[in-house]
Amino acid sequence: MVSEKLLFKDKVVIITGSGGGLGKAYALEYAKRGAKVIVNDLGGTLGGGGSSSRAADVVVEEIKKNGGIAVANYDSVNVHGDKIVQAAIDNFGRVDILVNNAGILRDVSFAKMTENEFNAVVDVHLNGAYKLCKAAWPYMLDQKFGKIINTASPAGLYGNYGQANYSAAKLGLVGMAETLAKEGFRHNIQVNAIAPLARSRMTENVLPPHILKQLGPEKIVPLVLYLTHESTNVTNSIFELAGGFYGQLRWERSSGQIFNPNPKFFTPEAILNKWKAVTDFKDKSFNEVQHPIQLSDYNDLIVKAKKL
Ligand code: NAD
Repeated sequence: MVSEKLLFKDKVVIITGSGGGLGKAYALEYAKRGAKVIVNDLGGTLGGGGSSSRAADVVVEEIKKNGGIAVANYDSVNVHGDKIVQAAIDNFGRVDILVNNAGILRDVSFAKMTENEFNAVVDVHLNGAYKLCKAAWPYMLDQKFGKIINTASPAGLYGNYGQANYSAAKLGLVGMAETLAKEGFRHNIQVNAIAPLARSRMTENVLPPHILKQLGPEKIVPLVLYLTHESTNVTNSIFELAGGFYGQLRWERSSGQIFNPNPKFFTPEAILNKWKAVTDFKDKSFNEVQHPIQLSDYNDLIVKAKKL
């Protein structure tokens, strides 16, 4: 069966940090498929220092050369995120798709991490995405259409040495996506989180060349475009992707243990005695946590647990 081509004609897309790396790859493909793109990039260093208009300009030039439509924006997401959304409104009259992608790194072990290093990373990734979402949200509510991608990271999902700041921000982006997905549900706004691994200046000094070779940023693009196409209703989901592998992630809960709430019995020793049951993932019937978690899930659990 030949499937239809997923086009983005007349859709207005904001991609933060799209002057290079993954963001640039998204911008080129959206534009190729007819979208009007705001190419935002502060143009600073990997650590967040400095700024330059060049990064965004080069991408816009390339899009225009290929016959596409794009406008450059150089605002910092965490300082003037609202102005980036305003640029979409001023130039194209609306905003349909927002890809929160801008980011920096300040890797250092937690023992040596300064408050400034922690805050700077959280500020760009998490507060930056907040500012963009906050400014785009009223337009999406009004037009009853919106797609948002928050860029998380395996470091946020699993932790990574030297990245307490980054992983805190990245898991924050997952939580924000899950809540906005619920609040946007009735308004036809879909929100998802992706945790990619790709070759870029973020990884080129960390991973060996033979691995990097397989991690072209273009391999992340198809899922982002699929998730944000108007024909797709996927929301409230987390995807992990790298080198052509795409998989969905979900939370898992152990079968758990109900304790007698009487303070006489509800003691640390009671937990000690039942620790194995608290942490037992073997019973598959308990494990798939549905979204959104309803009170009835807990009721179900209690009923099942009482039968044990
Ligand atoms: P990258 O450094 O090439 O891209 C990040 C871009 O964000 C840069 O162009 C940078 O100038 C821009 N930027 C930084 N601070 C900004 C600010 N305040 N305002 C506007 N723009 C700003 O790296 P990348 O690998 O393409 O990263 C893209 C996203 O993917 C990031 O959020 C990153 O954390 C995430 N990510 C990447 C990987 C990977 O393997 N490359 C893994 C997990 C998550």
